[in-house]
Amino acid sequence: RKLGYAIVGLGGYGLGRIIPEFKNCAHSRLAAVVSGDPAKAKKVAAEHGLSDKAIYSYANFDSIRDNPDVDIVYVCLPNSMHAEYTIRAAKAGKHVMCEKPMAISVAECEAMIAACKAANRKLMIGYRCHFEATNIAAMRLAKQPDTGKIRYVRSEHGFNAGDPKAWRLKKALAGGGSLMDMGVYSLQAARYMTGEEPIAVTARESTDRTDPRFHEVEDMIEWTLEFPSGALAGCQSMYSANQNRILLMGSKGRVELEPATRYDGNRLWTGRDGREQEISPPPGPGKTQFAGQLDHLSQCVIDGREPIVSGEEGLRDLRIVEAIYRSAREGKTIRLT
Ligand code: NAD
Repeated sequence: RKLGYAIVGLGGYGLGRIIPEFKNCAHSRLAAVVSGDPAKAKKVAAEHGLSDKAIYSYANFDSIRDNPDVDIVYVCLPNSMHAEYTIRAAKAGKHVMCEKPMAISVAECEAMIAACKAANRKLMIGYRCHFEATNIAAMRLAKQPDTGKIRYVRSEHGFNAGDPKAWRLKKALAGGGSLMDMGVYSLQAARYMTGEEPIAVTARESTDRTDPRFHEVEDMIEWTLEFPSGALAGCQSMYSANQNRILLMGSKGRVELEPATRYDGNRLWTGRDGREQEISPPPGPGKTQFAGQLDHLSQCVIDGREPIVSGEEGLRDLRIVEAIYRSAREGKTIRLT
C-alpha cells in the first residue's frame, strides 16, 4: 500500500529534492501540494498527474482534512513555520513529517508533540541521515569492539551562505544562523555516533557582524558536548565555508566520513594500527536516503509503530540547541541534566 503525502512548501527541498523521490518509494506517493504560488502549484500538480483538487494554498490548507487521499503532511517550509503547519496538519487529522530543525524553540517542539498526540497522529523529523547507507554503516562501526571505547567525536558542517536577504539569514524565519541549519547535522552526528545523550555543553560563537549576511544570525559556532561515558564531542557549524565531516575516535580505531551527510557521494573510512580502509556500505533501507525516510513514516503509520526519528528526537536536539546558544551568550558551561 502507498500512503499519500501532501508537500507543504514548493522550494528547494520540497520541490527540488523530495517530490522527485516518490518514484523511488515502495510505500509513499505524492497526493497533494500546498503552496503560496498558484501557478507553480498548478504546474507541479500537472507534472505529477494530480488534479486541481490536490492543490492547496496556505489559506485553505485546513480543508485538507476533507481529503482522504492525503495521509501524511510533509512540512518543507522555513523553520519558524514548522510548528504552525505541523499543528494545523495534526488538527486536520494527518500524520506529519517535519523538516529539520523541528522548530525554533523547545516550547514549539513541545506544542507540536502535544498536538500530534492529541490527534493520535505520528510525528517524524526529516533526519535523512538515519536512512543513509554510509551513516548507518558508520553508526554500526562505532559500536564494534575493534573500534574500542568511544573517546571523541568531531563533526563540522557548513556552507558559504549567499544572498543576505534569504530567509535562512533572517532571525524571525530561521530562528538562528548556521546552528539552526548545518549545525543540526553536527549535533545529530555527535548523538548518533556516540549513542549517548550529552550532560553538558560549552559553546563559543564567532561572527563578523559587519558582513551583511550576518546582521541577524550567527556565522560560526563551536560547541563541546560532554557525555556520561567521558567521551567528548567537538562540534561546529558555519555559514562562511564549505565543510562536511564526521570523525569518531575510539580507543582502538577511528571511523571517518567525508563528505559525511551530503545528498549523495558520502564516503567512509576506518583507521586501525595506522592503516586506512575505505568501506563500501551495504545498501540502506530505501533506494535512496530520501525514499528510505519517506517510506519509514508510511510503514510506521501502516504498522502502528513509532518512527526512529520522532518528534521527541527533534525536541532533544532543540533542548541542546537552546543550551548551545545560552552557553555562547553567557560564556559558561550549561549542564543538560
Ligand atoms: P527554500 O527557500 O528553498 O523553500 C522554502 C519554501 O517555503 C518556498 O517554496 C517558499 O515560497 C515557501 N515559503 C512560504 N512562506 C515563506 C516565507 N514567509 N518566507 C520564505 N519562504 C516561504 O528553503 P528550503 O531549502 O526548501 O528549506 C525548507 C526547509 O527544509 C527548512 O526547514 C530547511 O531547514 C529544510 N531543509 C532540509 C534539508 C535536508 O537535507 N533535510 C535540506 C534543505 C532544506
